[in-house]
Amino acid sequence: MDNGARLRLLGEGAQFDVSAPSTVAPQNPLASRPGSIYEALSADGKRIRLLKVLLSNACRHNCAYCATRCSRDIPRASFRPEELARLTIELSRAGLIKGLFLSSGIVGDADSTMARMIETVEILRHKHGYTQYVHLKLLPGISEAAVAAAAGLADRLSVNLEAPGPERLSAICPDKSFERDLVRTLRWASQRVGGGNVRSGLTTQFVVGAAGETDRELVEMTWRLQAEMGLARTYFSGFQPVPDTPLEGHVPAPPARERRLYQAEFLLRSYGFSLDEIIFDEADMLPRGQDPKLAAALANEEMFPIEVNSAERWELLRVPGIGPTSAERILAVRDEHKLSSLRHLETLGARTDRARNFVTLNGRYYPREEPAQQLSMGL
Ligand code: SF4
Repeated sequence: MDNGARLRLLGEGAQFDVSAPSTVAPQNPLASRPGSIYEALSADGKRIRLLKVLLSNACRHNCAYCATRCSRDIPRASFRPEELARLTIELSRAGLIKGLFLSSGIVGDADSTMARMIETVEILRHKHGYTQYVHLKLLPGISEAAVAAAAGLADRLSVNLEAPGPERLSAICPDKSFERDLVRTLRWASQRVGGGNVRSGLTTQFVVGAAGETDRELVEMTWRLQAEMGLARTYFSGFQPVPDTPLEGHVPAPPARERRLYQAEFLLRSYGFSLDEIIFDEADMLPRGQDPKLAAALANEEMFPIEVNSAERWELLRVPGIGPTSAERILAVRDEHKLSSLRHLETLGARTDRARNFVTLNGRYYPREEPAQQLSMGL
């Protein structure tokens, strides 16, 4: 198989690894580009083009949802480390990519596969002087020494937890141990972040809707990982059935579910919400017809309206339509100029169509409609 065909095959195999929320950036290889080039979000929110690829799509595991599970009859291919390093350099010199996202199926044991991934990045860094972004996926079950070696080379590391607990994981990946193979690896990686290593932090990913898990389970695990290991991001990959797998007849995860999970994760990570401020319905799911921030505001109606000119930062961040950037701008200008109109609030970046029901401006209240009428609005 030539390099182009392998790039396409191994790039398609990598599409299930999320490098940006699929509601923000496409998870399919970019059309009109050599296979495997995807858009991702950098740590500061900019879109960058990555070569996103598997070193091999052969795998000894048989995860129930996975397109590359060992029992599927599909073409298999691999790159040697020096081949993939050279291709990365060629695509980079051609201006087609700004970084590499490297994962792999597990051929033989996890450490020897991880060693080939690490060797690829060592060749890039040390032989070719490659300084661009590298995201390395840490394979389940690798040793602490392999985690340390990866941390010395990569800008970002990630471990796919796939499910929010041991029982959920065993339903879809029966031969992986949640604690030993995944959480322990994530913890080792978290201890290596800092001091110039892993500058873009540590992330994880869940397959949403494959294991019968609830949104509450996913959000609680997200909260725990942020608090205990300082995860930079949690990604949610909506389950899509793959032919010739045990879950081929399983219903796909609706995109709206993925979107609500990202909104809840954003509230925990960037708005300072605590877990008990996230509202779930009787089935422990995030309300589908209502974004989590509006749901939280409606559940705490007694705290509104908030006076924008005197509210503390955490209070501003609970107002639908005011985000971290607009809150900072409000705090910066209000000592000099009292905010007294919706127009002024809007110039600072607030969404006044959402915020007006929840704030007063210099004592004046501007409600336009009942909060309940905003139910279908996004964040
Ligand atoms: S370990 Fe599981 S999810 Fe990963 S490539 Fe192998 S079968 Fe797929």
